[in-house]
Amino acid sequence: MKRYPSAKPYITDREKKYVLEVLNSGILSLGKKQERFENKFAKFIGAKYACAVSSGTAGLHLAMIAAGIGPGDEVITTPFSFVASANAILYVGAKPIFADIDPLTYNIDPQKIERAITKRTKAILVVHIFGQPAEMAPILKIARKYNLKIIEDACESLGATYKGRMAGTFGESAVFAFYANKQMTTGEGGVIVTSNKRIYGLCRSLRNQGRAENMQWLDHNRLGYNYRMDEMSAAVGLAQIENIDFLLRERSIADWYHEFLAPHGDLIQTPQTHPHNTHTWQVYVVRIKNRNINRDRVMLDLQKQGIATKPYLPSIHLFSFYRSRFGFKPGDYPISETVSASTLALPFYVGLKRPDIKYISNKVIDAVKKYN
Ligand SMILES: *Cc1c(COP(=O)(O)O)cnc(C)c1O
Repeated sequence: MKRYPSAKPYITDREKKYVLEVLNSGILSLGKKQERFENKFAKFIGAKYACAVSSGTAGLHLAMIAAGIGPGDEVITTPFSFVASANAILYVGAKPIFADIDPLTYNIDPQKIERAITKRTKAILVVHIFGQPAEMAPILKIARKYNLKIIEDACESLGATYKGRMAGTFGESAVFAFYANKQMTTGEGGVIVTSNKRIYGLCRSLRNQGRAENMQWLDHNRLGYNYRMDEMSAAVGLAQIENIDFLLRERSIADWYHEFLAPHGDLIQTPQTHPHNTHTWQVYVVRIKNRNINRDRVMLDLQKQGIATKPYLPSIHLFSFYRSRFGFKPGDYPISETVSASTLALPFYVGLKRPDIKYISNKVIDAVKKYN
Protein backbone atom coordinates (compact mmCIF):
# COMPACT_ATOMS: atom_id res chain seq x y z
CA MET A 1 0.00 0.00 0.00
CA LYS A 2 1.25 3.47 -0.84
CA ARG A 3 1.49 5.86 2.09
CA TYR A 4 1.04 9.59 1.82
CA PRO A 5 1.74 11.88 4.78
CA SER A 6 -0.21 15.13 4.87
CA ALA A 7 2.93 17.25 4.59
CA LYS A 8 6.69 16.88 4.30
CA PRO A 9 9.58 19.36 4.16
CA TYR A 10 11.85 19.55 1.11
CA ILE A 11 15.47 19.37 2.29
CA THR A 12 18.49 19.39 -0.05
CA ASP A 13 22.25 19.13 0.34
CA ARG A 14 22.38 22.92 0.63
CA GLU A 15 20.45 22.90 3.93
CA LYS A 16 22.76 20.19 5.26
CA LYS A 17 25.87 22.05 4.16
CA TYR A 18 24.78 25.32 5.80
CA VAL A 19 23.83 23.61 9.06
CA LEU A 20 27.19 21.88 9.15
CA GLU A 21 28.94 25.21 8.56
CA VAL A 22 27.12 26.60 11.57
CA LEU A 23 28.00 23.64 13.76
CA ASN A 24 31.64 23.92 12.72
CA SER A 25 31.69 27.68 13.35
CA GLY A 26 30.75 27.44 17.01
CA ILE A 27 28.35 30.38 16.67
CA LEU A 28 24.94 28.85 17.30
CA SER A 29 22.80 31.96 17.72
CA LEU A 30 22.64 35.50 16.28
CA GLY A 31 25.23 34.73 13.62
CA LYS A 32 25.90 35.48 9.98
CA LYS A 33 23.45 32.93 8.61
CA GLN A 34 20.58 34.62 10.40
CA GLU A 35 21.65 38.02 9.08
CA ARG A 36 21.78 36.71 5.52
CA PHE A 37 18.49 34.90 5.97
CA GLU A 38 16.78 38.05 7.23
CA ASN A 39 18.16 40.18 4.40
CA LYS A 40 17.13 37.71 1.70
CA PHE A 41 13.72 37.22 3.25
CA ALA A 42 12.96 40.95 3.50
CA LYS A 43 14.07 41.39 -0.10
CA PHE A 44 11.86 38.55 -1.29
CA ILE A 45 8.79 40.02 0.41
CA GLY A 46 9.64 43.58 -0.62
CA ALA A 47 9.79 44.88 2.96
CA LYS A 48 12.64 46.89 4.42
CA TYR A 49 13.29 44.70 7.44
CA ALA A 50 12.92 41.12 8.62
CA CYS A 51 13.41 39.97 12.21
CA ALA A 52 13.79 36.21 12.63
CA VAL A 53 12.19 34.64 15.70
CA SER A 54 11.72 31.22 17.25
CA SER A 55 8.24 30.56 15.83
CA GLY A 56 5.37 32.16 13.97
CA THR A 57 3.49 32.36 17.25
CA ALA A 58 6.36 34.26 18.89
CA GLY A 59 6.37 36.59 15.88
CA LEU A 60 2.66 37.31 16.27
CA HIS A 61 3.13 37.99 19.97
CA LEU A 62 5.88 40.53 19.26
CA ALA A 63 3.88 42.12 16.43
CA MET A 64 1.03 42.68 18.89
CA ILE A 65 3.33 44.26 21.48
CA ALA A 66 5.00 46.42 18.84
CA ALA A 67 1.57 47.64 17.72
CA GLY A 68 0.93 48.83 21.25
CA ILE A 69 -2.03 46.50 21.77
CA GLY A 70 -2.83 45.86 25.42
CA PRO A 71 -5.50 45.25 28.06
CA GLY A 72 -8.86 46.81 27.24
CA ASP A 73 -8.20 46.78 23.49
CA GLU A 74 -10.11 44.74 20.96
CA VAL A 75 -8.56 43.19 17.87
CA ILE A 76 -10.74 41.90 15.07
CA THR A 77 -9.71 38.63 13.48
CA THR A 78 -11.05 35.48 11.85
CA PRO A 79 -12.33 32.41 13.70
CA PHE A 80 -11.21 30.26 10.76
CA SER A 81 -7.47 30.08 11.40
CA PHE A 82 -4.81 28.25 13.33
CA VAL A 83 -5.33 28.94 17.04
CA ALA A 84 -2.07 30.90 17.28
CA SER A 85 -3.53 33.96 15.56
CA ALA A 86 -6.22 34.55 18.19
CA ASN A 87 -3.94 33.45 21.04
CA ALA A 88 -1.47 36.21 20.16
CA ILE A 89 -4.19 38.76 20.92
CA LEU A 90 -4.74 37.15 24.33
CA TYR A 91 -1.01 37.15 25.12
CA VAL A 92 -1.06 40.96 25.31
CA GLY A 93 -4.23 41.05 27.39
CA ALA A 94 -6.48 42.24 24.56
CA LYS A 95 -9.72 40.65 23.40
CA PRO A 96 -10.11 38.84 20.07
CA ILE A 97 -13.32 39.82 18.30
CA PHE A 98 -14.17 37.39 15.56
CA ALA A 99 -15.70 38.30 12.21
CA ASP A 100 -17.07 35.52 10.02
CA ILE A 101 -15.54 34.47 6.72
CA ASP A 102 -16.22 34.45 3.01
CA PRO A 103 -17.69 31.03 2.13
CA LEU A 104 -15.57 30.66 -1.02
CA THR A 105 -12.08 31.84 -0.08
CA TYR A 106 -12.45 31.15 3.69
CA ASN A 107 -10.79 34.50 4.41
CA ILE A 108 -12.28 37.12 6.74
CA ASP A 109 -15.27 38.99 5.28
CA PRO A 110 -14.59 42.77 5.22
CA GLN A 111 -18.26 43.64 5.74
CA LYS A 112 -18.31 41.61 8.93
CA ILE A 113 -15.18 43.39 10.11
CA GLU A 114 -16.91 46.73 9.83
CA ARG A 115 -19.88 45.49 11.86
CA ALA A 116 -17.59 44.26 14.64
CA ILE A 117 -15.89 47.61 15.24
CA THR A 118 -16.40 49.30 18.62
CA LYS A 119 -14.78 52.20 20.50
CA ARG A 120 -12.24 49.74 21.81
CA THR A 121 -11.12 48.32 18.46
CA LYS A 122 -7.41 49.00 17.92
CA ALA A 123 -6.39 46.71 15.11
CA ILE A 124 -7.33 44.07 12.58
CA LEU A 125 -5.27 40.89 12.60
CA VAL A 126 -5.74 39.72 9.03
CA VAL A 127 -4.99 36.06 8.34
CA HIS A 128 -4.24 35.02 4.75
CA ILE A 129 -5.57 31.51 4.97
CA PHE A 130 -4.19 28.39 3.22
CA GLY A 131 -1.99 30.39 0.82
CA GLN A 132 -4.40 33.03 -0.44
CA PRO A 133 -4.49 36.70 0.60
CA ALA A 134 -7.56 38.21 2.23
CA GLU A 135 -9.56 40.98 0.50
CA MET A 136 -7.08 43.73 1.29
CA ALA A 137 -8.53 46.74 -0.56
CA PRO A 138 -11.77 46.93 1.46
CA ILE A 139 -9.90 45.96 4.64
CA LEU A 140 -7.39 48.79 4.15
CA LYS A 141 -10.27 51.18 3.51
CA ILE A 142 -11.98 50.19 6.76
CA ALA A 143 -8.70 50.51 8.64
CA ARG A 144 -8.19 54.04 7.32
CA LYS A 145 -11.80 55.05 8.03
CA TYR A 146 -11.67 53.91 11.67
CA ASN A 147 -7.98 54.54 12.27
CA LEU A 148 -7.11 50.89 12.95
CA LYS A 149 -3.76 49.17 12.61
CA ILE A 150 -3.36 46.19 10.36
CA ILE A 151 -1.17 43.27 11.30
CA GLU A 152 -0.92 40.39 8.88
CA ASP A 153 -0.73 36.77 9.89
CA ALA A 154 0.84 35.67 6.61
CA CYS A 155 2.11 32.40 8.14
CA GLU A 156 0.31 30.33 5.50
CA SER A 157 0.76 32.58 2.49
CA LEU A 158 4.43 33.06 1.70
CA GLY A 159 4.78 34.44 -1.83
CA ALA A 160 1.06 34.95 -2.46
CA THR A 161 -0.12 38.17 -4.06
CA TYR A 162 -3.24 40.34 -3.94
CA LYS A 163 -3.65 42.48 -7.08
CA GLY A 164 0.05 41.94 -7.75
CA ARG A 165 1.16 43.00 -4.28
CA MET A 166 2.88 40.57 -1.96
CA ALA A 167 1.18 39.26 1.19
CA GLY A 168 3.11 40.71 4.08
CA THR A 169 3.38 44.25 2.68
CA PHE A 170 -0.06 45.56 3.66
CA GLY A 171 0.13 45.86 7.43
CA GLU A 172 2.44 47.80 9.73
CA SER A 173 3.97 44.38 10.30
CA ALA A 174 3.42 40.84 9.02
CA VAL A 175 4.44 37.45 10.33
CA PHE A 176 5.53 34.32 8.48
CA ALA A 177 6.04 30.88 10.01
CA PHE A 178 8.38 28.04 9.13
CA TYR A 179 7.03 24.89 10.71
CA ALA A 180 7.70 21.89 8.47
CA ASN A 181 4.26 22.00 6.81
CA LYS A 182 4.64 25.56 5.48
CA GLN A 183 5.88 26.61 2.04
CA MET A 184 9.40 26.83 3.48
CA THR A 185 10.74 25.57 6.78
CA THR A 186 13.38 26.20 9.41
CA GLY A 187 12.18 23.40 11.71
CA GLU A 188 10.65 25.75 14.22
CA GLY A 189 10.85 29.41 13.32
CA GLY A 190 9.18 32.55 12.14
CA VAL A 191 9.88 36.07 10.98
CA ILE A 192 8.36 39.51 11.43
CA VAL A 193 8.61 41.74 8.38
CA THR A 194 8.02 45.47 8.42
CA SER A 195 9.13 48.61 6.67
CA ASN A 196 8.84 50.57 9.91
CA LYS A 197 12.26 51.08 11.51
CA ARG A 198 10.85 51.63 15.01
CA ILE A 199 8.88 48.38 14.91
CA TYR A 200 11.90 46.53 13.57
CA GLY A 201 14.13 47.81 16.38
CA LEU A 202 11.51 46.99 18.96
CA CYS A 203 11.08 43.43 17.70
CA ARG A 204 14.85 42.86 17.70
CA SER A 205 15.02 44.01 21.28
CA LEU A 206 11.92 42.07 22.40
CA ARG A 207 13.15 38.79 20.92
CA ASN A 208 16.40 39.21 22.83
CA GLN A 209 15.26 39.71 26.44
CA GLY A 210 14.49 43.39 25.93
CA ARG A 211 18.11 44.25 25.45
CA ALA A 212 18.71 47.88 24.49
CA GLU A 213 18.41 48.38 20.75
CA ASN A 214 22.05 49.30 20.28
CA MET A 215 22.62 45.69 21.42
CA GLN A 216 24.64 46.73 24.45
CA TRP A 217 25.09 43.81 26.79
CA LEU A 218 24.37 45.59 29.97
CA ASP A 219 21.05 47.32 29.63
CA HIS A 220 17.64 45.74 29.35
CA ASN A 221 15.31 48.66 28.95
CA ARG A 222 12.02 46.80 28.52
CA LEU A 223 10.41 43.46 29.33
CA GLY A 224 11.60 41.08 26.65
CA TYR A 225 11.55 37.41 25.79
CA ASN A 226 13.85 34.76 24.49
CA TYR A 227 12.30 34.44 21.05
CA ARG A 228 15.59 34.19 19.15
CA MET A 229 15.88 31.85 16.18
CA ASP A 230 18.88 29.59 16.62
CA GLU A 231 21.59 29.66 13.97
CA MET A 232 20.98 26.06 12.75
CA SER A 233 17.40 26.98 11.97
CA ALA A 234 18.55 30.18 10.28
CA ALA A 235 20.94 28.08 8.16
CA VAL A 236 18.04 25.91 6.99
CA GLY A 237 16.02 29.07 6.37
CA LEU A 238 18.78 30.63 4.29
CA ALA A 239 19.02 27.54 2.09
CA GLN A 240 15.24 27.48 1.71
CA ILE A 241 14.87 31.17 0.82
CA GLU A 242 17.68 30.80 -1.73
CA ASN A 243 15.55 28.10 -3.33
CA ILE A 244 12.19 29.78 -2.80
CA ASP A 245 11.25 30.17 -6.47
CA PHE A 246 11.54 26.42 -6.93
CA LEU A 247 9.73 25.64 -3.69
CA LEU A 248 6.78 27.84 -4.62
CA ARG A 249 6.69 26.76 -8.26
CA GLU A 250 6.47 23.11 -7.23
CA ARG A 251 3.29 23.84 -5.30
CA SER A 252 1.52 24.02 -8.63
CA ILE A 253 0.77 20.35 -7.96
CA ALA A 254 -2.50 22.01 -6.87
CA ASP A 255 -3.29 22.19 -10.60
CA TRP A 256 -3.28 18.39 -10.77
CA TYR A 257 -5.67 18.10 -7.84
CA HIS A 258 -7.89 20.58 -9.62
CA GLU A 259 -7.70 18.59 -12.84
CA PHE A 260 -8.78 15.36 -11.14
CA LEU A 261 -11.24 16.73 -8.58
CA ALA A 262 -13.01 19.62 -10.32
CA PRO A 263 -15.02 17.27 -12.60
CA HIS A 264 -16.61 15.92 -9.40
CA GLY A 265 -18.04 19.27 -8.40
CA ASP A 266 -21.28 17.62 -7.32
CA LEU A 267 -19.40 15.81 -4.54
CA ILE A 268 -16.47 18.02 -3.75
CA GLN A 269 -15.79 21.72 -3.80
CA THR A 270 -12.22 22.45 -4.90
CA PRO A 271 -10.43 25.55 -3.54
CA GLN A 272 -11.54 28.84 -5.07
CA THR A 273 -8.84 31.34 -5.93
CA HIS A 274 -10.04 34.92 -6.35
CA PRO A 275 -9.07 36.14 -9.85
CA HIS A 276 -6.99 39.01 -8.43
CA ASN A 277 -5.05 36.67 -6.11
CA THR A 278 -2.20 34.29 -6.62
CA HIS A 279 -2.34 31.25 -4.34
CA THR A 280 0.75 29.56 -2.93
CA TRP A 281 -0.94 26.51 -1.43
CA GLN A 282 0.21 25.98 2.12
CA VAL A 283 -2.37 23.22 2.00
CA TYR A 284 -4.89 21.95 -0.54
CA VAL A 285 -8.26 21.95 1.19
CA VAL A 286 -11.42 20.50 -0.34
CA ARG A 287 -14.96 20.70 0.98
CA ILE A 288 -17.44 17.84 0.98
CA LYS A 289 -20.59 19.25 -0.60
CA ASN A 290 -23.16 16.99 1.06
CA ARG A 291 -23.42 18.38 4.60
CA ASN A 292 -24.91 15.11 5.87
CA ILE A 293 -21.68 13.27 5.23
CA ASN A 294 -19.54 12.82 8.32
CA ARG A 295 -16.20 14.27 7.23
CA ASP A 296 -14.33 12.45 9.98
CA ARG A 297 -15.52 9.07 8.62
CA VAL A 298 -14.20 10.00 5.19
CA MET A 299 -10.87 10.90 6.77
CA LEU A 300 -10.73 7.61 8.64
CA ASP A 301 -11.45 5.67 5.46
CA LEU A 302 -8.62 7.47 3.69
CA GLN A 303 -6.30 6.93 6.64
CA LYS A 304 -6.91 3.19 6.40
CA GLN A 305 -5.79 3.38 2.79
CA GLY A 306 -2.55 5.14 3.69
CA ILE A 307 -3.72 8.67 2.84
CA ALA A 308 -3.27 11.17 5.68
CA THR A 309 -5.64 14.12 5.69
CA LYS A 310 -6.25 16.90 8.20
CA PRO A 311 -9.52 18.50 9.36
CA TYR A 312 -8.50 22.04 8.35
CA LEU A 313 -9.48 24.06 10.18
CA PRO A 314 -11.55 23.85 13.36
CA SER A 315 -13.16 27.20 14.23
CA ILE A 316 -11.20 28.83 17.03
CA HIS A 317 -14.23 30.15 18.93
CA LEU A 318 -15.47 26.59 19.51
CA PHE A 319 -12.32 25.36 21.23
CA SER A 320 -13.19 24.59 24.86
CA PHE A 321 -10.80 27.23 26.16
CA TYR A 322 -12.43 29.95 24.04
CA ARG A 323 -15.93 28.75 24.91
CA SER A 324 -15.31 28.82 28.63
CA ARG A 325 -13.40 32.09 28.58
CA PHE A 326 -15.73 34.05 26.30
CA GLY A 327 -18.99 32.07 26.24
CA PHE A 328 -18.86 31.30 22.51
CA LYS A 329 -21.33 28.69 21.27
CA PRO A 330 -22.21 26.90 18.05
CA GLY A 331 -24.01 29.25 15.71
CA ASP A 332 -21.95 32.32 16.59
CA TYR A 333 -19.98 32.25 13.32
CA PRO A 334 -22.03 29.95 11.12
CA ILE A 335 -20.04 30.17 7.90
CA SER A 336 -16.78 29.35 9.64
CA GLU A 337 -18.48 26.48 11.47
CA THR A 338 -20.00 25.00 8.33
CA VAL A 339 -16.68 25.16 6.53
CA SER A 340 -14.88 23.67 9.55
CA ALA A 341 -17.22 20.70 9.61
CA SER A 342 -16.82 19.76 5.98
CA THR A 343 -13.26 20.55 4.85
CA LEU A 344 -10.19 18.36 4.71
CA ALA A 345 -6.62 19.05 3.67
CA LEU A 346 -5.21 16.49 1.25
CA PRO A 347 -1.58 15.31 1.17
CA PHE A 348 0.44 18.20 -0.20
CA TYR A 349 4.22 18.52 -0.47
CA VAL A 350 6.98 18.99 -3.00
CA GLY A 351 7.78 15.63 -4.54
CA LEU A 352 4.24 14.43 -5.21
CA LYS A 353 3.86 13.54 -8.88
CA ARG A 354 0.86 13.57 -11.19
CA PRO A 355 0.17 9.82 -10.76
CA ASP A 356 0.23 10.26 -6.96
CA ILE A 357 -2.30 13.07 -7.18
CA LYS A 358 -4.47 11.04 -9.52
CA TYR A 359 -4.35 8.08 -7.13
CA ILE A 360 -5.18 10.20 -4.07
CA SER A 361 -7.95 12.07 -5.91
CA ASN A 362 -9.62 8.82 -6.96
CA LYS A 363 -9.49 7.52 -3.40
CA VAL A 364 -11.01 10.76 -2.11
CA ILE A 365 -13.85 10.61 -4.63
CA ASP A 366 -14.52 6.95 -3.80
CA ALA A 367 -14.56 7.66 -0.07
CA VAL A 368 -17.03 10.53 -0.47
CA LYS A 369 -19.23 8.53 -2.87
CA LYS A 370 -19.44 5.74 -0.34
CA TYR A 371 -21.40 7.97 2.04
CA ASN A 372 -23.24 10.14 -0.48
C1 LIG B 1 1.57 28.08 11.28
C2 LIG B 1 0.75 29.23 11.67
C3 LIG B 1 1.10 30.10 12.71
C4 LIG B 1 2.33 30.00 13.59
O1 LIG B 1 2.89 28.82 13.68
P1 LIG B 1 4.15 28.36 14.54
O2 LIG B 1 3.89 26.90 14.65
O3 LIG B 1 4.13 29.06 15.85
O4 LIG B 1 5.37 28.68 13.77
C5 LIG B 1 0.27 31.18 12.96
N1 LIG B 1 -0.84 31.39 12.25
C6 LIG B 1 -1.21 30.59 11.24
C7 LIG B 1 -2.44 30.92 10.47
C8 LIG B 1 -0.44 29.47 10.92
O5 LIG B 1 -0.82 28.66 9.94
